[in-house]
Amino acid sequence: MYDIAKIREDFPILARTVYGHPLVYLDNGATTQKPRVMVDALVNEYYSANANVHRGVHYLSQQATELHEASRETVRRFINACSTDEIVFTRGTTESVNLLASTFGDEFMGAGDEVILSVMEHHSNIVPWQLLAARKGIGIKVIPMNDQGELLMDEYEKLFSERTKLVSVTHASNVLGTVNPVKEIIAKAHAHGVPCLVDAAQSVPHTVVDVQDLDADFLVFSAHKMYGPTGVGVLYGKEKWLDALPPYQGGGEMIQHVSFEKTTFNELPFKFEAGTPDYIGTTGLAQAIDYVNALGMDQIAAHEHDLTQYAIDRLREIPGMRIFGEAAHRGSVISFLVGNIHHFDMGTLLDRLGIAVRTGHHCAQPLMQRLGVEGTVRASFALYNTRDEVDALVAGIERVMKMF
Ligand code: PMP
Repeated sequence: MYDIAKIREDFPILARTVYGHPLVYLDNGATTQKPRVMVDALVNEYYSANANVHRGVHYLSQQATELHEASRETVRRFINACSTDEIVFTRGTTESVNLLASTFGDEFMGAGDEVILSVMEHHSNIVPWQLLAARKGIGIKVIPMNDQGELLMDEYEKLFSERTKLVSVTHASNVLGTVNPVKEIIAKAHAHGVPCLVDAAQSVPHTVVDVQDLDADFLVFSAHKMYGPTGVGVLYGKEKWLDALPPYQGGGEMIQHVSFEKTTFNELPFKFEAGTPDYIGTTGLAQAIDYVNALGMDQIAAHEHDLTQYAIDRLREIPGMRIFGEAAHRGSVISFLVGNIHHFDMGTLLDRLGIAVRTGHHCAQPLMQRLGVEGTVRASFALYNTRDEVDALVAGIERVMKMF
């Protein structure tokens, strides 16, 4: 049984009030709240097992190293990677994409080569490629979408040329909620001999993601969007690809031997992990994974699906409601505008009622341009949200409408 009242007790912040109202936290696409067990794991490690990893012969260092490497194994199992060598810890999705744009770009791309992105990418999967374009003269092609917010697969097919070196697309849109057919997108890329990077920042918290089933070459996500701590993320890469890439940053940990004449690099995954890693954060990520696994990813997905359907039905009752994104296959993100109320006004006034939503361009300005709007209001649900909170959102919107 999915006992939502009991689950909510695991998240202390959900009991607080904002401006005298119970907090209704609907900004989970930006970051999720944290279960007590996750925060406890961070505190416990600082208090009882803190020491730098991979370096010391002493007891604490070995214990911290074991915890850190056990977390890598937890992540491996979570996304069903073949080996922990394929799990690189980073600061988050953004750093993972930058790491790849830099190293893949250096090794495999030159002037005139091309990367294919989609129109619904987050800036973190656009700007790193633009920086590479400025540095090396690569080209960027963009998969368009229909008015429902679904990628046009026929148009995608037409974008390939002999200069295509990589496809990099989001699994789930942080604006439209669209869940893209990444397995098919990857298969098409492979048919052209091109590897594929999946931005799973908005999918990993909500659904089972299996890198072997998808046959993803690279997949990236952030811990903080899935009940883990800030500052930690993952770059998954097939071993054959990671092996072929040069290091990203230089420093401690990533080397085998250093001399002023010649330096050799460490094996995977350490080749990409220069400096002291956030080994406390990786323990937190592993705890967050244990937490969602204990609830069951399928149960979480079912709960969020039900809640999203309920929210869409209720929001549609509101006169002047425009929902952006009507994809057949969608996740728990809903973007909307009501009448001509500015998204910023709507967000600010909802906040006064204790309702936290996101407003603005959601770091997806090219998508805003495609939609013909400057920004939207976004409600995004997590495993602890309730129908009562959806009702509070709807009542809040109706109250704001009366003010206009
Ligand atoms: N990609 C998508 C789809 C996202 O929603 C986000 C966060 N909004 C990111 C990438 C960037 O994640 P982070 O800021 O954790 O690096």
